[in-house]
Amino acid sequence: MLKPNEVNNWLEELPLIKNLTRLEEVLWLNPLVESVTTGLPKTNVTAVDVKDASDRLKRFASYIETVFPETRDAKGIIESPLTAIPEMKEALADEYNSSIPGELLLKQDNKLPISGSIKARGGIYEILKHAETLAIEYGLIDLKDDYSRFAEQELKNLFAKHKIAVGSTGNLGLSIGIMSAKLGFNVTVHMSADAKQWKKELLREKGVTVIEYADDYSKAVEEGRRQADADPSCHFVDDENSLDLFLGYAVAGGRLADQLNERGTIVDKDHPLFVYLPCGVGGGPGGVAFGLKLAFGDNVRCFFAEPTHSPCMILGMMTGLHDKVSVKDFGIDNKTAADGLAVGTASGFVGKTMEPHLAGCYTIADASMFRLLKLIADTEGIKLEPSALAGMTGPINVIREHVLDADSANATHLVWATGGSMVPEAEMALYYGMAGK
Ligand SMILES: *Cc1c(COP(=O)(O)O)cnc(C)c1O
Repeated sequence: MLKPNEVNNWLEELPLIKNLTRLEEVLWLNPLVESVTTGLPKTNVTAVDVKDASDRLKRFASYIETVFPETRDAKGIIESPLTAIPEMKEALADEYNSSIPGELLLKQDNKLPISGSIKARGGIYEILKHAETLAIEYGLIDLKDDYSRFAEQELKNLFAKHKIAVGSTGNLGLSIGIMSAKLGFNVTVHMSADAKQWKKELLREKGVTVIEYADDYSKAVEEGRRQADADPSCHFVDDENSLDLFLGYAVAGGRLADQLNERGTIVDKDHPLFVYLPCGVGGGPGGVAFGLKLAFGDNVRCFFAEPTHSPCMILGMMTGLHDKVSVKDFGIDNKTAADGLAVGTASGFVGKTMEPHLAGCYTIADASMFRLLKLIADTEGIKLEPSALAGMTGPINVIREHVLDADSANATHLVWATGGSMVPEAEMALYYGMAGK
């Protein structure tokens, strides 16, 4: 907790924080961003680590295909479609009295199989890696085996003796819970107060233990970590510090490069790629952005999007205090309908890792997310959860401020739609009805 005089000093030094405390929508450009030539050597995570994660997901593809039939067409690779949204592009520009000269694309992680959100990347990867490590340690699997063997009873019996725990606002819990239960682990999800009832029910149906807290995300994580630490047979998925989660997300970079290539979208010095990623604690957007930096170098500019009520990454990166500052230090309440982004303190690991790589961050009001949720449903028939709309004002913000070559007709703007397909219809109808309220 910052002292009152420290708070005042920061407000004087960084006047943008005043706008944040007034819950205004702001754009912050990162003064520390640099070229990958000098930036990547400063980063502890490497291309080799990301390749290792990608290879591991390939080893597990035959297992995923076996136990999740919805991944059969993709041969067990958990990936989402890349969709052009020209109608939304026109409507979005109209809505903000702006124009978007480049193309607007949507990365539809809302359609990711198994758990319907970006968490199907990092969350599932971390559980698979843990399962592989245990299976190798107990001599039950070899790297050269067909991993569909993970569906066999012998391996399930091994995992039943091991525990997994995670603290979550909801979506990470879904992805960790579903994957862990499928493998046979004994899994507990610690949920914050803002987690939705339907997520808790769905997990309980799958045999997951759900513990509910009256407090916010940080508290759920803290409690989960404390209980897991006391038990050596328990693996705690640490959303605030996990390298494995980060690597699982980072695999998206190379895969997006393939998808852009397939549709003939050029990314080079004269055809920049702008990517807008909703940010909660930071692991998802950080991992993806890092993977994109490896794939596209200086030709990609990544921006994080946060709710005006939960601007933890902006505050952490601006001040350089990272996980040593909470939005509550500045009287910001961390109350938002974007439940995937309701985080008051960002990951220090991600904030520091992204310092040389992130172009900037911006905030978006809940009311804007709801208006855009309706707009994309009306124009493109795409249903997203509120968090997944946070990226959508990115092109408007960077074009308005003439950030680099954002207003070039050669630019591609890619909004990362991070979730939605698991949301029950009745819940989605409520979201849709929130526009204009
Ligand atoms: C978790 C989540 C995010 C952000 O990911 P973090 O790793 O928490 O930053 C964005 N959108 C949705 C829908 C999410 O569930």
